Formats: sequence, C-alpha cells, structure tokens
Amino acid sequence: MTLFTPSHNATGEHVTSNVIGMTTSASVPTGSEAAIPSGGTVTDRLVEANRQYAAAFSDPGMDAHPVLHVAVVACMDARLDLHDALGLELGDCHTIRNAGGVVTDDVIRSLTISQRALGTRSVVLIHHTGCGLETLTEEFRHDLEMEVGQRPAWAVEAFRDVDQDVRQSMQRVRTSPFLVHTDDVRGFVFDVKTGLLREIDPPEQS
Ligand SMILES: [Zn+2]
Repeated sequence: MTLFTPSHNATGEHVTSNVIGMTTSASVPTGSEAAIPSGGTVTDRLVEANRQYAAAFSDPGMDAHPVLHVAVVACMDARLDLHDALGLELGDCHTIRNAGGVVTDDVIRSLTISQRALGTRSVVLIHHTGCGLETLTEEFRHDLEMEVGQRPAWAVEAFRDVDQDVRQSMQRVRTSPFLVHTDDVRGFVFDVKTGLLREIDPPEQS
C-alpha cells in the first residue's frame, strides 16, 4: 500500500486529510471517478455497481471451503489485484489482507480458522515493491500518542528490507502453534511495475 504519500489524480485534484502532519490521498482515479453519480459518494457508486453485479449473478452453488485449499496473505495495496495476478477464480482461496501483508495475531486468527474449519493447507504470503510501510517507523505510534493521548496497542510493523520482512512473516506462520499445516508456506514480493512475483528464500530452519 502507499501510506501517506501525497498523490494527485489525473485531474490534479488533491484530497487530503491531516494525520499528524502527513498527507494521504482519498481520491479515486479519473474514469472510475467519472462514474460516481453526481452528488453521490464513492460508496454510492459501489452500491450501484453491486446492483448491476447482482443482476448478472447466478448462485455458483459453492460451499465456503476454498477450492484450491490455499490462503493468500497480502498487503492491502490498491495496485495488487490478487485474483488477476494469481489466476484465481471465485471460490478458489481465502484472501487475508492488511497494511503490509504482515502476519499479525489477527492474521494468525484468520489462518487458524481457514485451516482448521475450512480446510486450507497452503499459505502464500505476498508483499510488494514500493510499500508504504517502508516509509514509516515505529515512531508513528509515538506521534499518534502525542496527537490523541493514547498509544495504540498494535505495532506499526514498519520495515526497511522487504525480503527480510517476507522471511519474518513466513517464520511467524511456520512457528505458530495454532496452525496444522506449516509445510507449504511460500513468500513473494510482487513488483508493482512489472506485475511479476519474485519468490523469497525461506528463513533457515532452526
Ligand atoms: Zn503495501
């Protein structure tokens, strides 16, 4: 994801919100933006798109178990279309996304349910080039505390070396006592410029 990076859409419009002096974009690309009904919000546009989706939708008759028995953990970055990038179809996999694609306790919670209740066996971890977490530090938590008077309980999980961060994520999955399938855990960096995945060597097994 791109966190707090000033950005402009094609019309030059610049929408900002101020979080401890940082700038974040709330704009959507032109083209998509043009489809927002006048006076409507982005969410209105999504709801309208859903009406059209539902009109053409037919019940595929699936149950909730992912067909490919795989769970993909990835960054929430808007440039990463997991289904297109990995050739996935509806029903194929679980997708678990957060800022950075970091394996947090809550990701372990989702993976545990994915494996123990819904039969997945493989885990694919995807970080990417140009991630916003590379531009932050744990100082972010301190700054938040100064601004709002409360320190967040969560770690920022900022990183400097994306390869190393993928290895750390792989290690967290492999060593989790709650997971039953930790033999097929692979990690990748998605290049947002080329669309290609680069596999990261697993950490040394101790
Ligand atoms: Zn990211």
